[in-house]
Amino acid sequence: MSRYADIVLPLAQPAYTFAVGEGVEVCVGDAVAVQFGKSAVYTGIVWRLHDTPPARGTAKPILKVLYDKPLLSELQMQFWEWIAEYYICSVGEVMRVALPSAIKAKAKCEEEFLPYTPKRETTVGLVADAFTEEVRAKMARRAPKRYEALCAIEEAGGVVPRHVVALDAAALKSLAKSGLVEMGERDYTLDCEWSKTLLPKLSPAQTKALNEIREGLTDRRVALLHGVTSSGKTEIYTHLIEERLSHGEDVLFLVPEISLTTQLVERMRSLFGESVTVYHSKLTPQQRTKLYTDMLSSESGNFVVGARSALFLPYKKLGLVVVDEEHDSSYKQTEPNPRYNGRDAAILLATLHDAKVVLGSATPSLESYANTLSGKYAYTQLTERYGGVEMPDIVISDTVRNVKRNERKLHFNKELLDGIAERLECNEQVILFQNRRGYSPYMECPSCGWSARCPRCNVTLSAHQQKGRMICHYCGYNEPIERYCPNCKSGELRPMGFGTERVEEAITELFPEARVLRLDGDTATSSTAYNRIIGAFARHEADILVGTQIVSKGLDFADVTLIGILNGDNLLASPDFRAEERAWQLLMQVAGRAGRRDKRGEVIIQTAEPEHSVYALVGDYERVATKLLAERKQFGYPPFVRIVKITMRTSNKELLVKSSLQLGEQLRNRFGRRVLGPVAPLIDRVRGEYRVELMLKVEVESSFSRARAILREEISKLKSEKSYRNIVVICDVDIL
Ligand code: ADP
Ligand code: ZN
Ligand code: ZN
Repeated sequence: MSRYADIVLPLAQPAYTFAVGEGVEVCVGDAVAVQFGKSAVYTGIVWRLHDTPPARGTAKPILKVLYDKPLLSELQMQFWEWIAEYYICSVGEVMRVALPSAIKAKAKCEEEFLPYTPKRETTVGLVADAFTEEVRAKMARRAPKRYEALCAIEEAGGVVPRHVVALDAAALKSLAKSGLVEMGERDYTLDCEWSKTLLPKLSPAQTKALNEIREGLTDRRVALLHGVTSSGKTEIYTHLIEERLSHGEDVLFLVPEISLTTQLVERMRSLFGESVTVYHSKLTPQQRTKLYTDMLSSESGNFVVGARSALFLPYKKLGLVVVDEEHDSSYKQTEPNPRYNGRDAAILLATLHDAKVVLGSATPSLESYANTLSGKYAYTQLTERYGGVEMPDIVISDTVRNVKRNERKLHFNKELLDGIAERLECNEQVILFQNRRGYSPYMECPSCGWSARCPRCNVTLSAHQQKGRMICHYCGYNEPIERYCPNCKSGELRPMGFGTERVEEAITELFPEARVLRLDGDTATSSTAYNRIIGAFARHEADILVGTQIVSKGLDFADVTLIGILNGDNLLASPDFRAEERAWQLLMQVAGRAGRRDKRGEVIIQTAEPEHSVYALVGDYERVATKLLAERKQFGYPPFVRIVKITMRTSNKELLVKSSLQLGEQLRNRFGRRVLGPVAPLIDRVRGEYRVELMLKVEVESSFSRARAILREEISKLKSEKSYRNIVVICDVDIL
């Protein structure tokens, strides 16, 4: 029996050595309770067993071995280690995202430490007999919130978990008292009723693509399915999924944001029934833990639809990973560590399991596309929409000319105004896209030029008219909207620029008869709210949907025939090297929402720069990709180099400048001209902390793992200087 165990704790720290007491039996991968620091008992994972006492001090004993079997397999441990190594963080930080919180209990002392035990969930059931027409009518008028909540329970089948009911305890209590609902209890579930249907029969084009993927995957790990929006990629996936499941293997279907997948999950449940598990961070800790432990004790053959955190589930034998919308930047965790890309981690995980990967997108990332050109990935294209729906017409509307001719009203050019009027006339639907939420990005005083800024961040406050607040989009700081300038006390503040809220207001003014809905971070505050808005628009209970990025994702509306992009220039305004790629992907994704099924659609893009090549080539993937790749090569950007962004932050500006210059110096000594900076980013102060950035560019031909090792070394050298100890240094590998 080994006498010591190196244990990973959910911290930005290396593994620590603990003593294995007499008679204590532990295995690698076991969860254990250990004391760390003065007053904390953590759940840790046994990473290594050995007989070497720690170099300093004496090892504390393991307090308790939790659960009757290891939480992690050897393969999962390799996966965690790879993520920590590649993304320059600790294995403990990976543990933080990888395990559901209930399973990694923490406490102040040993007595208070409670390992996870499955709990039962509280449910709310509707008493159908009591919810009569009469009661409904009365409630709809007098208590619309309660009424809506009851309708939602009814729609979901009559009994739902307590946490999904949008009512507070008092409201539920009074509903129970009047006999309208009953509280209950059951094992944690996630499922509803389903009935199995057969896999859809594929069109000839789909069959061809399916066969190409199968063939491409015989000697390659990854296939890219490049299919225009609505070409029926999902149906192709289902055939591949079915194959793997019938071999008893696990399948993971990754999606960028789970809140956007209600339609997808329903489709999968109707095909694969009970075996579909949905896993993402919006589930409660109890639900996630139950899923994790259920899977731990189950055989393989699981089908998981999930966001990137689903990569960490205990798969026994993964056969296939599908990464839908592989280009989507929300696959990348931006904060905190590990700043990993779910797509790239999926490929590594598949390699560990010797499984296959299918990446799908209407607008593949340049990285993946380049991998098909080099032959590393197999490549299949679907160029037509399913059922022969035509691609929309794209109209570029020149804002400057409209202004000159006096044809622009509020935020709309004549082309767009005419288009909207025409569609409303035909009882068709319109989506208006503006990539900014709120009323206006800032308010300005016309006499002195003053505008409200966040006291903690170097940004202007955005006006949110409905909330009556000026809000910082970086830290959430907010204050009331003032009418007069607090600086000169005379000017009346004017909103500058426009966000979705202001578009909504303008459209209501111009088309008073139109029914308008808004979908953005302020209205889609929960997945319920999101589903409510999407549902209403899909049922054609509104004519116009105004929204931010959210409207570009995975939505399928039969009656939408016009999409207006209010400010194309905004999309290109960002200074980073991906701005054009992103703008173009977004335009293509948004355009893909127009004119589905039997109606040809139209996309109108308003811009002050109509000659910009991004517009001319919206529909021509190959030409744009080729052009952008050539530029990336010329200027040294991914996929021809790998980039690590190093951000340093602290509230002491002087110290930051000094330390970042020093790190720049150190790195330049090792990497020469591959190091850029330090420079202040566009927003150089957030939450009272100053920031600077350095950039390390490593050619793909040289060893990236060697470069990361050097980088780690130099950072810890810097941090070992006493005065720099509290400076936060963050590495972001493969920035998006
Ligand atoms: P994508 O994922 O490429 O955007 P979808 O898979 O959502 O496209 O397909 C678009 C629409 O076409 C959906 O409504 C889908 O049900 C329908 N569809 C696609 N393929 C088939 C098929 N083989 N049989 C029946 N309907 C299909
Ligand atoms: Zn003023
Ligand atoms: Zn702020």
